[in-house]
Amino acid sequence: MAEVYIGIGSNLGDREAYIRKGIELMREFGITVIRVSSIIETKPYGYTEQPLFLNCVTHVETFYSPLHLLNALQFIENMLGRKRSIRWGPRTIDLDILLYNSVVIDTPRLKIPHPDMVNRYFVLKPLSEIAPDLVHPVFGKTMIELLNGIKT
Ligand code: ADP
Ligand code: MG
Repeated sequence: MAEVYIGIGSNLGDREAYIRKGIELMREFGITVIRVSSIIETKPYGYTEQPLFLNCVTHVETFYSPLHLLNALQFIENMLGRKRSIRWGPRTIDLDILLYNSVVIDTPRLKIPHPDMVNRYFVLKPLSEIAPDLVHPVFGKTMIELLNGIKT
């Protein structure tokens, strides 16, 4: 069983409903959702001319391998009407694998830990709420330390 943290974001339509539906679908796919962080509203990252996001992080347990989990999450994104257009552009739902045990993977299709998580307030803030002492397998810092690092 792998311990996994998944980042969820939405900035189109009924954002909270998409997040709730995304979590429900993860459960239907056999993923055990252990904990869901608070949902926070954040300014868009990268491409800034788009609506505000709602973001949260979930702690899940799964028997899926990293690639099978990515496939399942992308299937759920498609089910919820996600269209892929501009990078970092508006989306009904975005499901990112942030951490998968202490696994480190660096392939074009899948990078774990998620390479941008250490720079993103909208990831580190909710992640620090549910897993403050979790250690990043590459940087060796806890989530709360990483969060404090980007605030300065
Ligand atoms: P972003 O989440 O950075 O805004 P997308 O959701 O459009 O971008 O994802 C683009 C690609 O990122 C996906 O097709 C996927 O193959 C790849 N990817 C690489 N690592 C991960 C990861 N850890 N979690 C989710 N997608 C990833
Ligand atoms: Mg994504």
